[in-house]
Amino acid sequence: MRALLWFKQDLRLDDHPALQAGLAAECLLPIYVLDPAQLQLNEFGTRRMGVHRARFLLESLVALESELHQRGSHLLVIIGTAEQAIAQLVAQFDLDQVLTLEEIAPDERAQVNRVAQQLGSIALQQFPANDLLHSEELPFTLDQLPPVFSHFRSLVEERLQVFQPRHAPQRLPLLPDGALALMQPLPTLSQLGLGDPLSVPSSAFPFSGGEPAALGRLRDYLWNTQGVRQYKDTRNGMIGSEYSSKFSPWLANGSLSARRVIAELRRHEAQYKRNDSTHWLWIEMLWRDFFRWTLRRHGSAPFKAGGLKATEHAPQQLDQRFQDWSRGRTGMPLVDANMRELAATGFMSNRGRQVVASYLINDLQQDWRHGAAWFEEHLLDYDPASNWGNWAYLAGVGNDPRQSRVFNALRQARQYDPEAHYVSLWLPELRDVPQSLRHTPFLLASGHLHNLGYPQLDTIPESWKPYLHAVA
Ligand code: FAD
Repeated sequence: MRALLWFKQDLRLDDHPALQAGLAAECLLPIYVLDPAQLQLNEFGTRRMGVHRARFLLESLVALESELHQRGSHLLVIIGTAEQAIAQLVAQFDLDQVLTLEEIAPDERAQVNRVAQQLGSIALQQFPANDLLHSEELPFTLDQLPPVFSHFRSLVEERLQVFQPRHAPQRLPLLPDGALALMQPLPTLSQLGLGDPLSVPSSAFPFSGGEPAALGRLRDYLWNTQGVRQYKDTRNGMIGSEYSSKFSPWLANGSLSARRVIAELRRHEAQYKRNDSTHWLWIEMLWRDFFRWTLRRHGSAPFKAGGLKATEHAPQQLDQRFQDWSRGRTGMPLVDANMRELAATGFMSNRGRQVVASYLINDLQQDWRHGAAWFEEHLLDYDPASNWGNWAYLAGVGNDPRQSRVFNALRQARQYDPEAHYVSLWLPELRDVPQSLRHTPFLLASGHLHNLGYPQLDTIPESWKPYLHAVA
């Protein structure tokens, strides 16, 4: 076999079924295709990939090249479209197989189909995707997938067996003759038309892209600091790198395998015992799988306004309030702080994501898909299933039997940021306001607010009245 290995959202050598299949090849050409269309504005006026994720991707590709190089191979990165690039390379190097990861989202599946068409009689083999559980391990068929997470969880929660992901191989087949001449340096962010992101010292995600950094974080969180043993108590935090695992950006581009995370978690539990926190990390990883299976089951539905329910009850407006939300200038400090953190760093806590999404949908009554698209551009850990699945869920058009999930933003602020440390971190203009008013600057005289340069709220929602004053 003379094979091409097409890396996509699987930028690692560990637990990589397509790579394992390529080990027997006489020669193997590993490639990654960076499509500039990802960087262009789409129907929502946003990009599919913004500067933070692009930086993280480039770091991941540098790391992958280094890992391949250590094993006698190289990564060919091509700027263009996969359908053109792959067919051309297959012809040029007389290859007879293309090996790649199975895709689950509609656009990515369509792309794989276009590549297969271009390849004609050359086989394109797809290998199991980045899920935890494979279809044969699920205790139901896809069309019997439970519509709600609690039901899904009850069927798979006690499935505690250790997965056996395969480690990275020691050596790789050689490149086809002549392929080395095609290798080129990676483009820079400015060559891709993106400015350089500023490095922000208070980022909750101060890590780099790539498999070594991902495995390093896994080791730290499970073995060195053992932060995982307090996860259930810390996971609603918003400041710093340690309140949650921070695995998501590496999981999203496949630098880290979900099965490796769980194999290590089981090893940790075998040595130190399972506790509520270690178990909770497993439950959160099951949420990820649940959204992935839901996407498989429902195809493009999670991306539509009416979501899985195909109703039209989610708000569809889009006006200045969306712009204010996206720029962190609504006048609601907890929302603004989270949106500014996202823009500055590409990361936002799960708590923050729930609050800002609910605020956009329920308080500002804006079209949730624009919120999801904004996240898609800006999140380091953007993943189609988790992002659109969570947004649809909060908009009341996902799997939730409830019509919508409303988070009272001021109540959340009082509960999760009682000392206003988080809003002070991201909203410098409020640092001189007395601490007791930092969540409610809208109670200040409007002249004062104007002088601070912070926006005034339109109206104070009735539901906020019990939380207007900080409890001493
Ligand atoms: P931890 O709390 O340490 O959790 C461990 C892992 O469990 C995560 O890395 C993730 O893989 C999984 N997980 C945890 N919560 C969820 C969840 N609600 N849904 C799916 N998987 C989960 N996660 C993404 O990976 N990509 C996205 O694009 C994304 N968009 C989101 C949009 C909204 C509106 C909301 C409310 C949540 C979104 N999430 C997304 C889920 C969640 O917020 C992040 O996975 C989590 O904050 C990442 O930080 P962590 O790795 O430290 O998570």
